[in-house]
This record gives sequence, C-alpha cells and structure tokens, in this order.
Amino acid sequence: MILPFHSLSGEPFLYDSFTNRILAVSETLHGELTRASGLVSGIMDPVVRMACIQAGLRDGEPGIDSPEDLRQSMELSGLGLSKLVLGLTHQCNLRCRYCIYGGSVPGERTHEQAAMSLETARRVLEQLRARSQVPRSVIFYGGEPLLNWDVLRFFVETFDLPGGAERFAMATNGLLLDDPDRLSFLVAHRVLLNVSLDGPGHDRMRVTPSGEGTLARLLKVLGTIRQAHPDYYSESVGFVATVTPFTRLLETAEFFNSDELFAGKVIVSSWVFDPAGALGSKEELEGEKSRQNAEWELLRRSYPRNYGRGLPFDDGLHLQKMLAIDQRPIPPPSTIPLNACCYPGLNELFIDAGGRVTACERTEHFQLGEVGEELCRPERAEEMASRYHEFVSRHCPPCFAHRLCNKCFAQVGRGRLDEETFLSLCEDQRRAVRRSLELYVTIKSERPDAFEKEKTVF
Ligand code: SF4
Ligand code: SF4
Repeated sequence: MILPFHSLSGEPFLYDSFTNRILAVSETLHGELTRASGLVSGIMDPVVRMACIQAGLRDGEPGIDSPEDLRQSMELSGLGLSKLVLGLTHQCNLRCRYCIYGGSVPGERTHEQAAMSLETARRVLEQLRARSQVPRSVIFYGGEPLLNWDVLRFFVETFDLPGGAERFAMATNGLLLDDPDRLSFLVAHRVLLNVSLDGPGHDRMRVTPSGEGTLARLLKVLGTIRQAHPDYYSESVGFVATVTPFTRLLETAEFFNSDELFAGKVIVSSWVFDPAGALGSKEELEGEKSRQNAEWELLRRSYPRNYGRGLPFDDGLHLQKMLAIDQRPIPPPSTIPLNACCYPGLNELFIDAGGRVTACERTEHFQLGEVGEELCRPERAEEMASRYHEFVSRHCPPCFAHRLCNKCFAQVGRGRLDEETFLSLCEDQRRAVRRSLELYVTIKSERPDAFEKEKTVF
C-alpha cells in the first residue's frame, strides 16, 4: 500500500509500506497514485503505471507474524524479562481529576486501601527465581508507590544484588520526595524518577483530596532535589506531562522550554481524552479539542526550525516519532511483527497490589496469572496473543501504516481486546503516522544530516 503525501512545504512524496521507502516524486505521479487510492494497479495512465513498476513500487501486502512467531522471536532475542512493573499500592495522596482510578471510569479500580504486603513481595521474588526470571528493570507503580515504602525498599535491597535488576524506576507524583532519608535511599540506588508534572494546567487537574493544586509544592521539591543531588537530578529525573483537551499546548511548551529545571530533559506527553466525561461536557470537550488541534499544528509546523535546539516539550512531542521513521529497517522484514514490544508474560509482567498478574500495567483487564499460583498461565498468554492476531491479520495488511503504527495489546481497551475498540483507534493512528511522515520529510529536506547524532544516543 502506498501513501501519497506532501511535505509541510508542499513537495510531493510517497511512502511505500511494502518496501518501507520514502520517495520524492513528481506531482503527476503523486496525483495518479492519489486517484488510484495508493494502488499501482489502479493507475490509469499505462506509462505512469510502468514507471512505478520499474521503480519497484507494487501493491503487495505483507503477511503478519503468528502468535507463535512472536513468542519464538521474543525468546530468541534473549531479552528475557526486561521489565517488571510492581503496583505497590492502590492508595494515593492525590485525586487527579483525570485519574482513571478516581471512580469515574466504569470497570476501573479506585483508590481503595489495597497495598502489596511484604509476604506477597517475598512470594513474587521466590516465584520469579523459580522461573529463572530476573528482571533487568523494575518499575514501581501505584497509586503513589512511595506510600508503600517498606515494600519498595524491600524490592530495591533484595534485587540490588549481583545478577539482580540493573535499574529501578518509579512513576510518582513527586510530592513525597520531600523526605530527605527516603530521597537519599533513592539516590544511593539510582532509582529513576518519572515525575508527573503537567505545566501551567497542573493545578487544575492534579489536586489533593481537598481540591488544592500541587504545582508550587512539586516545584519546590524538585528544586531541592536538584540543589542537593545535581548529578542524580540531571541523570535520573524525568517528566511525564498529561495532556487533556483543556491543556494549553503553547503555554505548556513555553513553561517547559524556558524553565531551567527542565533543561536537558525530554518531556514525555501522555494524552487523556476523557472518555467518561469527567472533565467537561461533550460540547466543551469538542471546543477545547479544536483549539488544541490548532495549537498542536503550530508546534508541529515550527518543529523543523526547533529540532536540535533542545526544547524539552517540543522534542517530547516529536523526536521519538522522527527517530522511529529515520531508523526504520530497509529492506523491512517480509512479515509485520504482531506486536512490536512483547509477548504476553515473557518480556514484561505487571503484578498489582493484590497479586494479580497481567502483561503490563496498561492491560489490567486481561489477567494472566496470580502470585501464589502460576504467575503466567501459558494458555492465557496464548489466548491474548491469538485474539489480538485475529484483528491485526484482518485489518492491518492493507493499511499503509502497518510498519509505523504503534499498535499493541494495551491500546485495545486496556487488555479487553474487543474489535470495536481496536478499529476505533485506527483513524487516529493513520493520521498520526501521516503527520509524522510529513514532518520527517520536511526536516530531512532542509537538514539532510538530521537525526544522525541521536543514533549514537538512543
Ligand atoms: S497521582 Fe497518579 S494515581 Fe494518584 S490520583 Fe494522580 S493520576 Fe491517579
Ligand atoms: S492503523 Fe489500524 S489497521 Fe492500520 S496498521 Fe495500525 S492497527 Fe492496523
């Protein structure tokens, strides 16, 4: 399948998903392929059709790896259990208005009192050892993981042995990092911190149970960490900004790009669309979305100028996507991988506060096993991969985005894996891939050496 598209400055290009190539073409060829819906066989002009065939363009559709292929390739990769995510507690000291655990999203857990016990933690270790699965990185998740300090410390001290985990990380709201003893422990063990910080809109969304904003407190804590432990702050503290339809993107970019606290960082953005309508009415959300789309477009159009300037928010929006296109394999594998990142239960595991095991923290609705029983029942892992394979093999081969799309199990209803949700994401995915291609060719046309230096970093 071929996607004809234009760069942001109007030059015609093609992306051929079969060969993974991007080609600068004439306006005539671009027009012919657009009229033929991206199919060489649909081009009416025989001369243009022949020129396409001679240039190696064709209509073929690659096959999709089977669940078994995926399992084998993940096993052969030798990656082992690269990531273990531990949901230490459901409790949280905040009540963020967009939090899926806040009680407004049907079917999701709430901030109840469940916390992982030391006994469960010991069992997790025993069972992983019995399976010879030593995770390379361990990530603490919640609620707010710092609220279960004893278990967090137990895992760090026990895994922090020869042959144990290489890295620890934590998703945190950051407010409890004001305890100097705990902070020293985290610094000593080089625990990576992924701090949630939304920028100027922070106080509207990230609030205490009594509704107070938390930005000033968080900035104070971060300033203290940076002053007391400058190396740790620069190497081990990262940020995630949650973007809701109410987020003012231009102000948010200004906030992160101009404050010294974020110099040298890349701000990862996490987009929340408020499906439960907890943040505003449908009309309000739609109005905010169209304002936000216009702001996003302004940031995208300025990225060819801003790439390379080390702007934390702009790089967070675009850089990884640009690198994924730049580093795409040519020629590509003959089949499309079923899921680019993992086979359920093999490369990643999420264990929640009550000992339920799922493939990751974003697939909480598909249980693979249980602490104290089997951590991952092979038939459940197979069922998950097969259900996903059904949708992918039915819909992805004729889609131009199949080599650049971010698809994974987690996107489909947090593991519920229903076809309607799978398909509902596709238009957005295709639009995102197309926009990234437009941006990529624009940057590369202006700066042929773009993304070379990142190859050595990423
Ligand atoms: S800090 Fe995280 S877990 Fe706590 S309320 Fe906010 S989003 Fe939810
Ligand atoms: S956009 Fe949808 S159909 Fe296309 S590759 Fe992605 S998941 Fe498949």
